[in-house]
Amino acid sequence: MRKEHATMTAQILDGRAMATTIRAELRERATARANELGFAPGLAILRIGDDPASAVYTNQLARAAEQVSVRATVEQLEADTPPARVRDALQQLNDDPRIQGILVQMPLPPQVPQQMIADRIEPDKDVDGISTRSMGNLFLHLPTFVPSTCLAVMEMLARAGVRIAGRRAVVVGKSNVVGKPLAFLLLQYDATISVCHRRTRDLGFYTRQADILVVAAGVPGLITAEMVKAGAVVVDVGINVLPQGGVTGDVDYEQVREVAGAISPVPGGVGVLTNLMVLKQTIDGAAVNATA
Ligand code: NAD
Repeated sequence: MRKEHATMTAQILDGRAMATTIRAELRERATARANELGFAPGLAILRIGDDPASAVYTNQLARAAEQVSVRATVEQLEADTPPARVRDALQQLNDDPRIQGILVQMPLPPQVPQQMIADRIEPDKDVDGISTRSMGNLFLHLPTFVPSTCLAVMEMLARAGVRIAGRRAVVVGKSNVVGKPLAFLLLQYDATISVCHRRTRDLGFYTRQADILVVAAGVPGLITAEMVKAGAVVVDVGINVLPQGGVTGDVDYEQVREVAGAISPVPGGVGVLTNLMVLKQTIDGAAVNATA
């Protein structure tokens, strides 16, 4: 089967090119929203401690915000801040009318329980969709914010013109931030879904059935060409740091692109769109995702 399709080269789902278009659209909408509000939409980024990766992410997000006319502010707390003080800081942001979105940077220090903090964010400002309420709204198909990585995947599929309804979608990974909410989003758009994880037996049996395969496992090279149906759309969410520097995804890109109909690269794929989806939700507010 692979031989038959050996000449097929996949369409590249180019996150960078999509990001250029999305940025221009967001800038326009942020300006319109600023006219309604009387001030630029505000995103508060709350950091607790000094994790170096989260510092990089915070700077990237703040820069991306500036590019689309969203006013980003960074609230920095010490690593040993007691939970009550973190709750107070969140309450202030909840009460601030100039803040439309709140993003709490992970990882949190051990004394600060993640879900408790997530659930302290005012639901109307939970622009990374991490609270129990947002997750419940997604499940019930009510207007909601969704985790930005999941929205990035959906945005990528939409911009590439990928039809979802009636197709078989397989998600590899079942985390609360990526795999599970993504599977529910694909279901909202009427895909028939399977969710695989580290205990799944014969992963290839499932992935070979996918018309749309989304991989978020954090295992470099997990998906090989033999595990992909000819012509499938393959979205690689994985970001794995290489010992020699740089990053790679979960999909064997060079091999799989000879079999797939479309494929997203790493870097330059989903990751590029993730920050923009936080900003999109800050500008647009909660939305209903697809039909019931
Ligand atoms: P996680 O570690 O919380 O979850 C990984 C999931 O993959 C688990 O459900 C696990 O069961 C499954 N898994 C692990 N090994 C597997 C295997 N061998 N076979 C099948 N399933 C397996 O990770 P996460 O936070 O969901 O992130 C997943 C990947 O996506 C990571 O590489 C992460 O860096 C990346 N990520 C990217 C973005 C982005 O913006 N592009 C955002 C978040 C996470």
